[in-house]
Amino acid sequence: MMGKRIHNFNAGPAALPFEVLEEIQSELLDYKGSGMSILEVSHRSKWFDDVINSAVERTRKLLNLGEDFEVLFIQGGASLQFCMIPMNLGLKGRPVNYVNTGTWSTKAIKEAEIQGKDVNVIASSEDKGFSYIPEDFAVDGNAAYLHFTSNNTIKGTQWSRFPDAGDVPLVSDMSSDILSRPLDAAPFGLIYAGAQKNIGPSGTAMVIIRKDMLDRTPDHLPTMLKYTTFAEKNSMFNTPACMAVYTIDLVLKWIDERIGGLQKMEAVNREKASMLYDFIDQSHFFRGTAEKESRSLMNVTFRLPNEALEKEFVAEALEEGLGGLKGHRSVGGCRASIYNATGLEAVRALMGFMAEFEKKRG
Ligand SMILES: *Cc1c(COP(=O)(O)O)cnc(C)c1O
Repeated sequence: MMGKRIHNFNAGPAALPFEVLEEIQSELLDYKGSGMSILEVSHRSKWFDDVINSAVERTRKLLNLGEDFEVLFIQGGASLQFCMIPMNLGLKGRPVNYVNTGTWSTKAIKEAEIQGKDVNVIASSEDKGFSYIPEDFAVDGNAAYLHFTSNNTIKGTQWSRFPDAGDVPLVSDMSSDILSRPLDAAPFGLIYAGAQKNIGPSGTAMVIIRKDMLDRTPDHLPTMLKYTTFAEKNSMFNTPACMAVYTIDLVLKWIDERIGGLQKMEAVNREKASMLYDFIDQSHFFRGTAEKESRSLMNVTFRLPNEALEKEFVAEALEEGLGGLKGHRSVGGCRASIYNATGLEAVRALMGFMAEFEKKRG
């Protein structure tokens, strides 16, 4: 028997498409006639080989990636990428450029600094509490790469246009907005995403790397920290996070076949976000925290008149079946994460509850 499911606004791990959960359930005990669960089959079997190849192919198709890109799955989440990127893509005698737009960028910068890289933070929005995306900055043409965080999960800001770095390859942490909209991968040397926001379970990062970047990997790195190890072995040098990759493949199938691709996905995401922001903007009770031009389509951050009301709001919302609305512990306030799998009906339910709450307490 199924218990009652809530509208899930968690920031991560986050909602998965209901159809995907049903599919996992339906084939959990006997995966495609194997007589085993996908949790139990060998990663060297044809069953799992098909899964990982399918996940790679679907990613290629959805993002329109050319043969010059590899799609990898690497354990350790997005945070391991913070250190693997400077380790593998840094170039001797050349600086690395970063834009700092919040907690996750700050962590990425720190990992490059720990390794003694020549780190230049060429722009930051720290002066206004990371409430906006910087616009005016110059990229060092000699930099090995420019790193930025495409969507700032905690502060609720997002790059609507990616920075222009000329010939310097872009490197982006897209953990919380990957596959939420189409993108042109051409200017990117590497794109990475912890899977647990938009495309699957936690513990694995999707890494999309341009093949020429693989030439940069220094020989002296430990085997498991080299991108080349993952690229040469189709992400199976050791046992991959099989269940995570399998779930990601089903989510990609859902985006492709149920939603109809990334253009459609973006349209739904825009509709959800604009509904919610419009509601917040007309309210005299709720107040958005990110600057309007920099607002995220994925994480909608807002405040109520005081913290006591925020606490009541989050608690009462949960009683009404609306979960995960508490802001990140570092910033407080409220946050509704409305990733790909959180549907229009969930956003409508949230707005209904917000209107009621405002009427009662406003
Ligand atoms: C959640 C998140 C991370 C951290 O991901 P882990 O998989 O837990 O390491 C990094 N960057 C961004 C933008 C995130 O939203």
